[in-house]
Amino acid sequence: MTNYKCSSVGVIGAGIQGVCIGLQLAKKGIPVTIFDKKDPGSMSSYGNAGHFSPYAVVQLNRPDVISDVPKMLLSSYGPLALKWNYIPKMIPWIFHYLKSSTSKSMMHTAKYMHQILDLSLNAYDEILEEIDTTNLVERKGIIYIWTNKNLKSRNLEIKIRNQLGIKQKLLSQKEILDLEPNLNPVFDGGVIYDYAYHARDPKGITKKLFELFIKYGGKFNKNEVIEIEQNKVNQTLVKTHSSNYNFEKIVLACGAFSKKLTDKLGEKIPLDTERGYHIHYKKMDHLLKRPVIFLDRGFGMTPMNQGLRAVGTVELGGLDNPISKKRIDYIDKCAKELLPQLGDYQDEWLGFRPTLPDFLPIIGPSLKNKNIIYAFGHHHLGWTLGAITGKIVSGIINEEKTNLDLSPYSSARFN
Ligand SMILES: Cc1cc2nc3c(=O)[nH]c(=O)nc-3n(C[C@H](O)[C@H](O)[C@H](O)COP(=O)(O)OP(=O)(O)OC[C@H]3O[C@@H](n4cnc5c(N)ncnc54)[C@H](O)[C@@H]3O)c2cc1C
Repeated sequence: MTNYKCSSVGVIGAGIQGVCIGLQLAKKGIPVTIFDKKDPGSMSSYGNAGHFSPYAVVQLNRPDVISDVPKMLLSSYGPLALKWNYIPKMIPWIFHYLKSSTSKSMMHTAKYMHQILDLSLNAYDEILEEIDTTNLVERKGIIYIWTNKNLKSRNLEIKIRNQLGIKQKLLSQKEILDLEPNLNPVFDGGVIYDYAYHARDPKGITKKLFELFIKYGGKFNKNEVIEIEQNKVNQTLVKTHSSNYNFEKIVLACGAFSKKLTDKLGEKIPLDTERGYHIHYKKMDHLLKRPVIFLDRGFGMTPMNQGLRAVGTVELGGLDNPISKKRIDYIDKCAKELLPQLGDYQDEWLGFRPTLPDFLPIIGPSLKNKNIIYAFGHHHLGWTLGAITGKIVSGIINEEKTNLDLSPYSSARFN
């Protein structure tokens, strides 16, 4: 006999959120279908830097970043860029962002990112032990490096992490070079999170978790969803170009694309995207043992199966603008600053971080349609937060009690 509280669920989106949510629901025995126009793990959940980073509580909504923005924008060799044609469309996002960048909001975000990040590795370990992760996951920690030029910002981050009880080990330049001897010593110091780990192939992991979802009885429908609605008290509708499907509940997990469907539901949610890029240096992954992130440059490198993946920058420019060659050149230049032995790169890739202006995700029921559950807006941390989001959302659907305070993740904060 089944004891679940929901008869059927449609999950829209087969990125890491959708797959982990589908998997947790299927494990509870709840009939679930994931919809995606692409193969699982094809968008941001493919091209990210692969960090499982539970320590990363301090986000970009902070006073010191706001005061640095004009300087960063004026420099063509900086981690932040704009597509000017998109800025008028981003005004609501920018308005909320400025409002959310006080010291108080920064600490609110840090506290509630910490609440879920702190559970993120255990949630992954539970599902990773059900798949073969050989050559997919490497547990060697993650290093951040910096110069002494921006020590005020670094000290702020260190202080907040200390306040929240997050384990961090500061390193001198020499200690970093002992761990990563190939690095060019253009930095002054850094920090290692030795309990963090990284993916050598984020898409490969998503694919294996998706296969596990199918093994537990989940279904996949490869179609674009054009509309969702709650048409009765306990019935929702998923519309694709060819058919309509009824479920008791729907989960919306389309990452940066979720706004297209929330707009149609009549909810004003200021979701936008921070565009990020990657390139690969094939057969160069042996140059680093673990991910290294250069904070002054807003970029990092991760040893992966496809090669050494150089990833980074934040570009505000929406979902439709073309790839920026200048951003790619910037990443290439940064990579060669740290590893001058690198040659030509391959695979220019542009991805879309789904970002709310206060840098907290939205996890919880829609305000107007209680049977539609939102799970998007995980910005720079969506890879890390996949497994825990799966647990939280499946718990909401199955009406389970939780000790977590989920109110900060509600879309009510924008209404
Ligand atoms: C450059 C870069 C580096 C990053 N590095 C890291 C990192 O190291 N660690 C970390 O934790 N996070 C990282 N992130 C963030 C992380 O990748 C994202 O937050 C995460 O992948 C978002 O997952 P998602 O499932 O919400 O969205 P996505 O992976 O984008 O998936 C959304 C899915 O929805 C589907 N979809 C969209 N619209 C529809 C529709 N109408 N109908 C059907 N399907 C639809 C898409 O096809 C897609 O498959 C990085 C992101 C970028 C861009």
